Amino acid sequence: MPKLNIAGFVEDTVVEGPGRRFALWVQGCHRRCAGCCNPGMLDFVPKTIVDASWVCDRIEASRCANGIEGVTFLGGEPMLQAEGLSEVARFCRERALSVMVFSGYTLEELEAEELPFAAELLQNTDVLVDGAFDAARPERERHWVGSANQRFHYLTGFYGSGIERDPRFPHGFELRFRTDGTVLANGFPWEPTGSFGQNGDDRRKPQGVQTWPR
Ligand code: SF4
Repeated sequence: MPKLNIAGFVEDTVVEGPGRRFALWVQGCHRRCAGCCNPGMLDFVPKTIVDASWVCDRIEASRCANGIEGVTFLGGEPMLQAEGLSEVARFCRERALSVMVFSGYTLEELEAEELPFAAELLQNTDVLVDGAFDAARPERERHWVGSANQRFHYLTGFYGSGIERDPRFPHGFELRFRTDGTVLANGFPWEPTGSFGQNGDDRRKPQGVQTWPR
Protein backbone atom coordinates (compact mmCIF):
# COMPACT_ATOMS: atom_id res chain seq x y z
CA MET A 1 0.00 0.00 0.00
CA PRO A 2 1.34 3.49 -0.82
CA LYS A 3 2.02 6.07 1.86
CA LEU A 4 0.10 9.26 2.53
CA ASN A 5 1.32 12.46 4.20
CA ILE A 6 -1.78 13.72 5.94
CA ALA A 7 -2.47 16.94 7.79
CA GLY A 8 -5.49 15.60 9.61
CA PHE A 9 -8.87 13.94 9.40
CA VAL A 10 -12.36 14.07 10.86
CA GLU A 11 -14.19 10.77 11.09
CA ASP A 12 -17.74 12.13 10.89
CA THR A 13 -18.59 15.59 9.59
CA VAL A 14 -21.60 17.13 7.85
CA VAL A 15 -19.91 20.27 6.51
CA GLU A 16 -17.36 18.87 4.04
CA GLY A 17 -19.74 17.64 1.38
CA PRO A 18 -23.18 16.03 1.17
CA GLY A 19 -24.30 13.98 4.13
CA ARG A 20 -22.15 12.50 6.87
CA ARG A 21 -18.59 12.07 5.65
CA PHE A 22 -15.08 11.12 6.61
CA ALA A 23 -12.87 14.11 5.69
CA LEU A 24 -9.13 13.79 5.05
CA TRP A 25 -6.71 16.71 4.60
CA VAL A 26 -3.39 15.99 2.92
CA GLN A 27 -0.18 17.93 3.43
CA GLY A 28 1.53 19.86 0.63
CA CYS A 29 0.47 22.22 -2.14
CA HIS A 30 2.74 24.02 -4.59
CA ARG A 31 0.35 26.94 -5.04
CA ARG A 32 0.29 29.98 -2.82
CA CYS A 33 -3.17 31.38 -3.41
CA ALA A 34 -3.68 34.70 -1.66
CA GLY A 35 -6.10 34.12 1.18
CA CYS A 36 -5.65 30.34 1.28
CA CYS A 37 -7.41 29.22 4.43
CA ASN A 38 -4.95 26.39 5.04
CA PRO A 39 -1.47 27.97 5.00
CA GLY A 40 -0.24 25.34 7.44
CA MET A 41 -0.92 22.60 4.90
CA LEU A 42 1.11 23.98 2.00
CA ASP A 43 4.72 23.10 2.80
CA PHE A 44 6.01 19.75 1.57
CA VAL A 45 7.10 18.56 4.99
CA PRO A 46 6.26 15.29 6.69
CA LYS A 47 3.24 15.71 8.95
CA THR A 48 1.63 12.35 9.65
CA ILE A 49 2.87 9.59 7.37
CA VAL A 50 0.50 6.64 7.16
CA ASP A 51 -0.22 3.72 4.89
CA ALA A 52 -3.25 4.18 2.69
CA SER A 53 -4.56 1.01 4.35
CA TRP A 54 -4.48 2.80 7.70
CA VAL A 55 -6.80 5.44 6.31
CA CYS A 56 -9.03 2.73 4.88
CA ASP A 57 -9.28 1.15 8.32
CA ARG A 58 -10.32 4.48 9.87
CA ILE A 59 -12.95 4.97 7.15
CA GLU A 60 -14.33 1.48 7.63
CA ALA A 61 -14.56 2.07 11.38
CA SER A 62 -16.49 5.29 10.78
CA ARG A 63 -18.76 3.59 8.24
CA CYS A 64 -19.72 1.04 10.88
CA ALA A 65 -19.95 3.47 13.80
CA ASN A 66 -21.38 6.56 12.14
CA GLY A 67 -23.07 5.42 8.97
CA ILE A 68 -21.12 7.84 6.79
CA GLU A 69 -22.18 8.02 3.16
CA GLY A 70 -18.84 9.06 1.77
CA VAL A 71 -15.38 10.56 2.07
CA THR A 72 -13.95 13.93 1.12
CA PHE A 73 -10.30 14.60 0.24
CA LEU A 74 -8.98 18.12 0.75
CA GLY A 75 -5.70 19.79 1.39
CA GLY A 76 -3.14 20.81 0.55
CA GLU A 77 -3.40 19.29 -2.90
CA PRO A 78 -4.97 15.81 -3.07
CA MET A 79 -3.89 15.31 -6.69
CA LEU A 80 -0.23 15.36 -5.60
CA GLN A 81 -0.90 12.29 -3.45
CA ALA A 82 -3.10 10.59 -5.97
CA GLU A 83 -1.42 7.19 -5.72
CA GLY A 84 -2.42 6.68 -2.10
CA LEU A 85 -5.73 8.47 -2.41
CA SER A 86 -6.75 6.44 -5.45
CA GLU A 87 -6.27 3.30 -3.34
CA VAL A 88 -8.43 4.78 -0.60
CA ALA A 89 -11.02 5.95 -3.11
CA ARG A 90 -11.21 2.49 -4.68
CA PHE A 91 -11.69 0.97 -1.22
CA CYS A 92 -14.54 3.42 -0.57
CA ARG A 93 -16.28 2.83 -3.88
CA GLU A 94 -16.20 -0.93 -3.27
CA ARG A 95 -18.22 -0.22 -0.13
CA ALA A 96 -20.70 2.09 -1.85
CA LEU A 97 -19.21 5.16 -0.19
CA SER A 98 -19.11 8.28 -2.35
CA VAL A 99 -15.83 10.07 -3.02
CA MET A 100 -15.53 13.85 -3.25
CA VAL A 101 -12.23 15.57 -4.06
CA PHE A 102 -11.26 19.25 -3.81
CA SER A 103 -8.35 20.17 -6.07
CA GLY A 104 -6.60 23.37 -7.05
CA TYR A 105 -6.16 21.90 -10.52
CA THR A 106 -8.94 22.33 -13.02
CA LEU A 107 -10.29 19.21 -14.64
CA GLU A 108 -8.76 20.33 -17.93
CA GLU A 109 -5.35 20.69 -16.29
CA LEU A 110 -5.63 17.26 -14.75
CA GLU A 111 -6.47 15.74 -18.10
CA ALA A 112 -3.59 17.55 -19.80
CA GLU A 113 -0.80 17.37 -17.22
CA GLU A 114 -0.85 13.63 -16.60
CA LEU A 115 0.00 13.84 -12.92
CA PRO A 116 0.95 10.40 -11.60
CA PHE A 117 -2.14 8.42 -10.62
CA ALA A 118 -4.45 11.43 -11.04
CA ALA A 119 -6.40 9.56 -13.71
CA GLU A 120 -6.85 6.63 -11.30
CA LEU A 121 -8.10 8.98 -8.61
CA LEU A 122 -10.53 10.64 -11.02
CA GLN A 123 -11.80 7.22 -12.09
CA ASN A 124 -12.76 6.60 -8.48
CA THR A 125 -14.18 10.06 -7.77
CA ASP A 126 -17.88 10.89 -7.81
CA VAL A 127 -17.60 14.66 -7.41
CA LEU A 128 -14.56 16.75 -8.28
CA VAL A 129 -14.51 20.35 -7.09
CA ASP A 130 -11.81 22.06 -9.12
CA GLY A 131 -9.88 25.30 -9.26
CA ALA A 132 -7.68 27.18 -6.85
CA PHE A 133 -9.19 29.64 -4.40
CA ASP A 134 -9.58 33.15 -5.82
CA ALA A 135 -9.98 35.71 -3.06
CA ALA A 136 -11.21 38.29 -5.58
CA ARG A 137 -14.28 36.15 -6.31
CA PRO A 138 -15.71 35.10 -2.95
CA GLU A 139 -18.53 32.57 -3.07
CA ARG A 140 -21.64 33.57 -1.13
CA GLU A 141 -24.24 30.98 -2.07
CA ARG A 142 -22.89 27.53 -2.82
CA HIS A 143 -21.93 25.04 -0.15
CA TRP A 144 -18.35 23.93 0.52
CA VAL A 145 -16.43 26.20 -1.88
CA GLY A 146 -14.66 29.45 -1.15
CA SER A 147 -14.68 31.22 -4.50
CA ALA A 148 -16.99 31.52 -7.48
CA ASN A 149 -14.50 30.11 -10.00
CA GLN A 150 -14.51 26.68 -8.37
CA ARG A 151 -16.62 24.17 -10.30
CA PHE A 152 -18.44 20.99 -9.39
CA HIS A 153 -17.95 18.09 -11.79
CA TYR A 154 -20.30 15.17 -11.35
CA LEU A 155 -18.21 12.31 -12.68
CA THR A 156 -20.68 9.57 -11.80
CA GLY A 157 -24.38 9.39 -11.11
CA PHE A 158 -23.93 9.04 -7.36
CA TYR A 159 -25.19 12.60 -6.82
CA GLY A 160 -27.44 14.69 -8.97
CA SER A 161 -26.03 17.97 -10.13
CA GLY A 162 -26.87 20.92 -7.97
CA ILE A 163 -26.10 19.50 -4.55
CA GLU A 164 -23.93 22.55 -3.93
CA ARG A 165 -27.12 24.61 -3.68
CA ASP A 166 -29.28 21.99 -1.97
CA PRO A 167 -30.85 23.57 1.15
CA ARG A 168 -30.96 20.20 2.91
CA PHE A 169 -27.22 20.42 3.53
CA PRO A 170 -25.90 22.66 6.31
CA HIS A 171 -23.79 25.64 5.29
CA GLY A 172 -21.38 26.30 8.08
CA PHE A 173 -18.60 24.94 10.20
CA GLU A 174 -18.12 22.58 13.13
CA LEU A 175 -16.19 23.01 16.33
CA ARG A 176 -14.93 20.07 18.37
CA PHE A 177 -13.95 20.76 21.94
CA ARG A 178 -11.40 18.16 22.92
CA THR A 179 -10.44 16.90 26.32
CA ASP A 180 -6.92 18.31 26.01
CA GLY A 181 -8.38 21.83 25.95
CA THR A 182 -7.91 22.44 22.22
CA VAL A 183 -10.65 23.11 19.72
CA LEU A 184 -10.79 21.59 16.25
CA ALA A 185 -12.62 23.60 13.59
CA ASN A 186 -13.60 22.54 10.08
CA GLY A 187 -16.08 23.49 7.42
CA PHE A 188 -17.14 26.60 5.58
CA PRO A 189 -17.58 29.45 5.91
CA TRP A 190 -14.92 29.65 8.56
CA GLU A 191 -14.50 33.30 9.39
CA PRO A 192 -11.26 33.85 11.31
CA THR A 193 -11.54 36.07 14.36
CA GLY A 194 -9.00 37.75 16.56
CA SER A 195 -9.32 35.09 19.21
CA PHE A 196 -8.89 32.11 16.87
CA GLY A 197 -6.31 33.50 14.44
CA GLN A 198 -5.87 32.59 10.80
CA ASN A 199 -7.02 29.19 9.64
CA GLY A 200 -4.36 26.53 9.65
CA ASP A 201 -1.77 28.69 11.35
CA ASP A 202 -1.30 27.17 14.77
CA ARG A 203 1.13 29.87 15.84
CA ARG A 204 -1.76 32.34 15.92
CA LYS A 205 -4.15 30.30 18.01
CA PRO A 206 -3.66 31.37 21.61
CA GLN A 207 -6.71 29.34 22.64
CA GLY A 208 -5.36 26.14 21.12
CA VAL A 209 -7.60 26.04 18.08
CA GLN A 210 -6.62 23.63 15.33
CA THR A 211 -8.37 24.11 12.02
CA TRP A 212 -8.76 21.59 9.21
CA PRO A 213 -10.92 23.42 6.71
CA ARG A 214 -10.36 23.24 2.97
S1 SF4 B 1 -6.26 27.56 -1.82
FE1 SF4 B 1 -6.03 25.37 -2.31
S2 SF4 B 1 -4.77 25.37 -4.18
FE2 SF4 B 1 -4.55 27.41 -3.26
S3 SF4 B 1 -2.69 27.29 -1.97
FE3 SF4 B 1 -4.47 26.81 -0.66
S4 SF4 B 1 -4.64 24.56 -0.70
FE4 SF4 B 1 -3.33 25.16 -2.45
